[in-house]
Amino acid sequence: MSPHPLPVTRFHARDIPIVRIPLEVFPSFYAYAYLLCIGEMRILIDTGSGFGRSNAQLEEGMKTASSLLESPVQLEDLTHILVSHGHIDHFGGLPFLRSRTSARVGIHELDYRTVTNYEERLTLVTHRLSNFLWESGVTPEQHQELLALYRFNKNLFQSTPIDFTFEATGMQFGPIQMFHVPGHCAGQTIFRIHDILLIGDHILSKTTPHMAPESLTHNTGLGHYLTSLTAMQDFIRGASLTLPAHEDPITDLPARIEGIRQHHLLRLEKALTAMETPKTIAEVSYALFRRPKGYDALLALEEAGAHVEYLYQRAKIRIANIEDLENTFEPVPLKYIRM
Ligand SMILES: [Zn+2]
Ligand SMILES: [Zn+2]
Repeated sequence: MSPHPLPVTRFHARDIPIVRIPLEVFPSFYAYAYLLCIGEMRILIDTGSGFGRSNAQLEEGMKTASSLLESPVQLEDLTHILVSHGHIDHFGGLPFLRSRTSARVGIHELDYRTVTNYEERLTLVTHRLSNFLWESGVTPEQHQELLALYRFNKNLFQSTPIDFTFEATGMQFGPIQMFHVPGHCAGQTIFRIHDILLIGDHILSKTTPHMAPESLTHNTGLGHYLTSLTAMQDFIRGASLTLPAHEDPITDLPARIEGIRQHHLLRLEKALTAMETPKTIAEVSYALFRRPKGYDALLALEEAGAHVEYLYQRAKIRIANIEDLENTFEPVPLKYIRM
């Protein structure tokens, strides 16, 4: 096994130790699980992906955590698992953990089905993604390739039970306060322990969290995301350190939020400029991101789709070829133009 490039690290929220365990969730892509010791409770926030070395690194990380905490803690000791949101790099380790612990598992209501009815959701979203790709104006070859990329690896997970939902707890779990921030994911939840925030994928230190259009999944998309950035102002006030689920800790959260907001406003302006003449979502994605390949091409289309959807919802653009839709019920590439 090659050496792990990221260390297991201990933080403190007053008297509550928080141990950050890095996991290689996909090849060369890292996420963190966080172990919290609160009284007799041993709480894990996020589980890794379950792919590759993720489960083994979680188990190894618990050993390192034991030495940092100066008291042994292993997977079997976990009392609760809180899933920050319904993306596989955060909940994919659940079947492994279920086989090793009797910890009670919680997630937000809006991501509950993603985990408990995984196969149903995969089928439904693949169908919606297929429609989205046709409407985006990709070629039949790209359509086939992108759908295959989307499904790649996804059938390795199986539906797994959840024990409780966050809203049912009153968004409070012992000293952990929770706040729902839909946008990057429908059920994305952030956690506050005294002056420390565990912010999931809602805010990252370097990259702007991925956006996909709400037409694929309700309560995602850029409109919800920007609303969530504003809605959490009271919840985050006075926090001294923010720990995201990827990348580095954030010390100046308000500045990072403003940076992300400006980034999206600029991207919306670029998209509008591209749509001075009629453009498909695929063409807008080329204007924003040049021509990425492989899975990045799918991410670029979703990102462009989220921005086009935001502008369309707010009547900044209109469909230039609506007559193409009038005589067919088949999906048609849509061209958008600035109003
Ligand atoms: Zn995510
Ligand atoms: Zn993630």
